[in-house]
Formats: sequence, structure tokens, C-alpha cells
Amino acid sequence: MDPLLQSAAEAARGFMPPDEGIALHEAALLVADGASPMLEIGSYCGKSGIYLGSAAKERNTILFALDHHRGSEENQPGWEWHEPDLVDPEVGVIDTLPRFRRTLFDAGLEGTVVALVGDSPTVGSRWAIPLSFLFIDGGHGSEPAHRDFELWTPWIESGGILAIHDVFPNQADGGRPPFEIYCRAIESGEFADVSATGSLRVLRRN
Ligand code: SAH
Ligand code: MG
Repeated sequence: MDPLLQSAAEAARGFMPPDEGIALHEAALLVADGASPMLEIGSYCGKSGIYLGSAAKERNTILFALDHHRGSEENQPGWEWHEPDLVDPEVGVIDTLPRFRRTLFDAGLEGTVVALVGDSPTVGSRWAIPLSFLFIDGGHGSEPAHRDFELWTPWIESGGILAIHDVFPNQADGGRPPFEIYCRAIESGEFADVSATGSLRVLRRN
């Protein structure tokens, strides 16, 4: 990965350890030159957007970065991962879109990373574009995680890549739903393991 973009990604706010970020970047480089678009669910302030967007640029494709930018349950006031300065004081709710745009602008990736601002099921139930790569890192509750799996994985092309974040096989390490959808992917027989780095799982569609 370009060292400047790597340090920009490491400096960006968000939830992606450096080794998992590099693994995510490398997973996105598995797609062919000129591949179909990539899509991530859960962009927050643009950290994974740099790891993925830089790979999309290298492969002459684009990354759709989907987020309603209102934060997940665990980002809300009173929860573990709340960052008070991300609340828009005029409306009193989280708004990570300004920070996201700034992060991608500074990284020079505005031409490659296209923000989709909306609720994942609202967008996903109307989607109609085949994807070379899908990264699932949105809502981590049971309902949102399983719905993201059901709505979005059918759009992954044959030979395409599915990456899932926050997969914790051991319950003591974190919530179960991302692990459950990883298991669904494997048990469907349609996906095979490519790599595992920390809580990141990378799979390839048959
Ligand atoms: N990938 C990011 C972290 C994502 S955090 C990084 O590298 O830092 C999870 C994100 O999912 C939050 O920004 C939240 O707003 C978004 N999210 C949660 N549920 C969503 C939904 N139903 N639709 C769209 N985005 C959602
Ligand atoms: Mg995550």
C-alpha cells in the first residue's frame, strides 16, 4: 500500500486496526483490473474507505461507501463507542458524514470513493449492480447483520470477494452476529475462506 495513504488510514478515526486494514486492502486487490464496483457497508469516518478505496483506484474501479452516518447502536450516547464530538449540536444526533468527506478528500480519493448516504436495507432492497467485492461492517446486532448478509451477498459476482469485520469465534471477545454470518457464508457452500487477520475474514465466491 502507498505509504502516504497507509499513514492517512492509520491516522483516520474509526475502528480498524492497522494489520486488519492492510489485510482488507490486500483482499480488495484480489479483484481484476477494471472490475465491477466494490461496496462497503459501514463507513463511519472513512478509515476503511482509505484501505479499500486505494485498492479500488489501483484496480481502476470504484468503491461505494454506504452508511446512514448516524452511527450504530454502540456509537450512541451512553454506549461504549460513543464519540461526543461527532454529534451535530444543532440536531442532537451523530453525523459522521462531514468527517468522512474530509478524510477521503485529504486522501485524494474523492474520484474513487462514492458515498451512499442511507439505511442499508433501504438501499439494498433496491440495489441492482453486480459487485466484485463486498465488505460488511455496518450494524452488528443480529437483525442488521443477518439482513446485510441476505440483501447484499447475492450481488457478489462469481469469483468475487466477501470480507466481514468483527468476526469473533470466541463469545468472550465480542458479539456473535458477524461470526454467525461468516458461518452462514461457509455453510452455504458458495464461499470459501481466503484469509483471516484478527477479526477480519476474507472469502471468495465460487
Ligand atoms: N468501517 C468503519 C467502521 C464502521 S462502524 C471504519 O473503518 O472505521 C459501523 C458503521 O455502520 C457506523 O458508521 C454506522 O452508522 C453504520 N451503520 C449501522 N447500521 C447501518 C444501517 N442500517 N445502514 C447504514 N449504515 C449503518
Ligand atoms: Mg468493524
